[in-house]
Amino acid sequence: MEDNILKQSLWIGGEYRPAATYTELKNPFNLKHIADIAVAGKDDVLDAIASAYQASAKLAALPAYVRAEILEKVAGFLKEEREECAKIISQEAAKPIKAARAEVDRTIMTYTFASHEARRIHGETVPMDAAPGGEGRLAFTVREPIGVIAAITPFNFPMNLVAHKVGPAIAAGNPVVLKPASQTPLSAYKIAEFFHRAGLPHGALNVVTGSGRSVGDILMKDDRIKMITFTGSPEVGRYIRENSGLKRVTLELGSNSAVIVDEGVNLEKIIPRIVTGAFSYQGQVCISIQRIFVHENLLEAFTEQFIEEVKKLKIGNPLDEDTDISALISRGDVQRTKEWVEEAVASGAGIKIGGSITDGIYQPTVLVDVDTSEKVSCEEIFAPVVHINRFKTMNEAIEMVNDSKYGLQAGIFTDNIHYGLQAAKRLEVGGVMINDIPTFRVDQMPYGGVKLSGMGREGIKYAVEEMSELKLISFKME
Ligand code: NAP
Repeated sequence: MEDNILKQSLWIGGEYRPAATYTELKNPFNLKHIADIAVAGKDDVLDAIASAYQASAKLAALPAYVRAEILEKVAGFLKEEREECAKIISQEAAKPIKAARAEVDRTIMTYTFASHEARRIHGETVPMDAAPGGEGRLAFTVREPIGVIAAITPFNFPMNLVAHKVGPAIAAGNPVVLKPASQTPLSAYKIAEFFHRAGLPHGALNVVTGSGRSVGDILMKDDRIKMITFTGSPEVGRYIRENSGLKRVTLELGSNSAVIVDEGVNLEKIIPRIVTGAFSYQGQVCISIQRIFVHENLLEAFTEQFIEEVKKLKIGNPLDEDTDISALISRGDVQRTKEWVEEAVASGAGIKIGGSITDGIYQPTVLVDVDTSEKVSCEEIFAPVVHINRFKTMNEAIEMVNDSKYGLQAGIFTDNIHYGLQAAKRLEVGGVMINDIPTFRVDQMPYGGVKLSGMGREGIKYAVEEMSELKLISFKME
């Protein structure tokens, strides 16, 4: 083992636990060895579950204001160590440093919202006498913690998507066993350290690293786990749903998000925004723009100006201040992207820019004339590849967006209020962004998908609802 390489042990029961084996973590940009990460064995995962289970009563008994203060402190530590956290994200995920800082800022907001929500979890009174036989009763609901939650998270927002699970879980009084993506464990361990410093009871947050399949199978089978909250690919989401028995499961999965550009809109204003939506973090965002549908009267001007804007993207080392695009999460994903683009081109698609690999980085790529049956269109590409197609009528555009097995968010730029409202009603997605990109998200809004994009909603208030049980209390007064 090389000198000065961080050896990251498991975090169980409020302390570091060495593992029997460790695996090398490499920077996806330069493939340098950055840390050795503990691989949890079966007993380690079972101990993490036992620790969380033992912490349940203690956490549930903490007053709301104490849970809120812990979450506020975590947000404060993130503010103090913003640059260090951004560098962790940038190095383990090859996220351009500007985007990594933006993720830390969002993570601060997510824990801040979680601390607010912790203070306002409440039920409501129920008018029992609205039904014959219900007279003479005073009834109300309360929200109680659901119990131990297993959180399984992806690589692409390693701090903020952990926050979207750990934040509402702690706000609602539930202990967590967190299994972060194997490529991005350091962000998760950093957050565990912050919670420890903030005074979270031992065992209320445990972090176990190792292969998703082996850790996941233990979490799914254990009856002490009451809920699995998963963000990741549809294939793994389906596997979890099918193997989790009666546990509550929420799934935040992938998408091939689309944006509609109607005639009459101001191209200078919207094109930089659409380029951001398509290429931020190399297109590895679950709501990245993959399909652009442009009114035929605008198509030529749009395509020309879009290409000019794409040319401005700076490609390089994620730690360089001006980098917009860096390496994909693995060389395997570079190869997959190359194959999908080549298949589309072989079937008649045209490459307007990109389509090549330089120093291991897949270049930002714009395709035209793509058949919707091509993988670059109908599957989630999760790479810096976007395609532009034309439409004649708004009806046709909405049908093209809906012609997808996914449905996370969609965007429409239009000056026509009727088209905006029509799109809002008819688009089969979890969120419609009128006059914005589908990639827009702030962390308190309800967020989640339909179809293969998942089930359940995040956005702290909504996740707290998923992570609590509603109990009815009825007083018979006569
Ligand atoms: P992934 O391969 O599905 O992995 C996600 C997590 O699941 C990782 O922690 C992974 O562990 C674990 N895992 C893998 N196999 C498992 C199994 N059999 N049982 C239990 N857990 C298992 O996804 P990813 O490549 O990290 O992330 C990209 C995907 O996430 C994209 O599809 C993207 O759209 C989606 N995503 C969705 C949202 C949303 O909010 N809707 C947000 C972000 C990302 P290992 O890393 O050890 O394999």
